[in-house]
Amino acid sequence: MASDFDVIIVGGGAAGIGAARNLARSGVGVILLEASLRLGGRAFTQDLGGYPLDLGCEWLHSGDRNAWVDIAEASGFPVDRTDPPWAKAHPGIAWDEDDEEAARKAFGDWEERLRAVAQGSDRASDALEPGGEWNAYVRAIAGFMSGVAPERISATDYVAYDDASTGQNWNLPLGYGTLVAASLPPSVVLRLATPVGRIELTADGVAVSTRAGTVRAKATILTVSTAVLAGDAIRLPPGTEPWRDAAAALPLGRNEKVFLEIGRDAAFEPDSHAYGNLRDARSAAYSIRPNGWPVIEAFLGGEGARILEEEGPAAGFARATAELGALFGSDVASTLRPFAATSWSRMASIGGAYSCALPGQSNARARLARPFEDRLFFAGEATHPFDFTTAHGAHDSGRRAANEALGALRARLPTGRFVRSA
Ligand SMILES: Cc1cc2nc3c(=O)[nH]c(=O)nc-3n(C[C@H](O)[C@H](O)[C@H](O)COP(=O)(O)OP(=O)(O)OC[C@H]3O[C@@H](n4cnc5c(N)ncnc54)[C@H](O)[C@@H]3O)c2cc1C
Repeated sequence: MASDFDVIIVGGGAAGIGAARNLARSGVGVILLEASLRLGGRAFTQDLGGYPLDLGCEWLHSGDRNAWVDIAEASGFPVDRTDPPWAKAHPGIAWDEDDEEAARKAFGDWEERLRAVAQGSDRASDALEPGGEWNAYVRAIAGFMSGVAPERISATDYVAYDDASTGQNWNLPLGYGTLVAASLPPSVVLRLATPVGRIELTADGVAVSTRAGTVRAKATILTVSTAVLAGDAIRLPPGTEPWRDAAAALPLGRNEKVFLEIGRDAAFEPDSHAYGNLRDARSAAYSIRPNGWPVIEAFLGGEGARILEEEGPAAGFARATAELGALFGSDVASTLRPFAATSWSRMASIGGAYSCALPGQSNARARLARPFEDRLFFAGEATHPFDFTTAHGAHDSGRRAANEALGALRARLPTGRFVRSA
């Protein structure tokens, strides 16, 4: 049976759009099927009160080698290369600077010990100092980075990301999600609100089933999160069990954000940062007046994000306001009002924040990235060997999968002709 398209991309996040951009340049016929009502996935900017707030990815990590920087500049999106707020502690916070320095040092020491642990148990919690005074702080920061407790982090995986990071963290004042959603080439056919329920191999390609019918192509690129892939929302062809197992070894951690609006112009320093409580693993990191806006963004990871997920946004706002009250005084905290809260873990089409390899499972990323029968190709942040957890890693994984699909198509079509030209 003839194919409708050359390639079907499943999922319109950073990876799906990265794949689409690469395929469109090669003139192949591409359709992108996205379950939700919008493009971007975990890249999502929402305009609240005139401020483009990033509910998901926000920082152009490794900005000096991040593909989204070039895409932004080619499309006229401003890129802010100044230091991120977490480099600038908010002045006058009511705590001991020596404590903060000791906590930061304990975290650095933990990261160093991870290298030895990677050679042994590979369980990042084994790098915690037994009874260490700053273990709660180490757990909180590990939660921001990985979304889970150190007991569930592969030290090898953590170190691979850390070694590859260039430490340059840039920003998009119009929003990371705005850029990602605006970057799908117009030649790609887009179907929103079209969840894929089944993927089958056919004699000459693939058949991808949705509620609106079945689409046929020569190949498909699957970019859904590991939570979706390991679940039962999409039926995959027989023989793909090892891919599902690899996805299950790379579960999504929990990371959420709570936004508060500063009601009257209280004396908060723009583009500064505060950490809620150095001795509480559930504490949030606060980005204060990002881009000068009258907004405070609380970032929660691991245990802190679990509480928000289980107790709901009202509890999240209350905890954030109480922590800020302890830091800045209750009169300042009383000027704050709830603005927005995320619930990535509860979204069926996402299911968490970003992937983290379980101890001993760092090679699951390579296992997940392998093509299946030269028809089914896998992309998404979790498949990147070292830039996992990021939007640029997702983009580059899409580009890699697109190259693999193009290679397979060309091998099957010696004339080099495709279904329709872009
Ligand atoms: C709170 C938070 C903060 C973050 N901060 C940063 C940051 O500062 N910098 C950074 O680089 N990264 C950050 N990240 C991570 C980054 O957002 C992700 O790594 C990246 O966006 C993942 O892209 P992806 O394309 O792999 O997956 P996704 O964005 O999850 O895209 C997959 C798409 O598939 C769709 N889908 C699911 N099921 C189906 C189906 N059955 N049929 C069709 N479509 C389906 C989904 O709706 C989704 O749109 C953050 C993430 C979160 C949650």
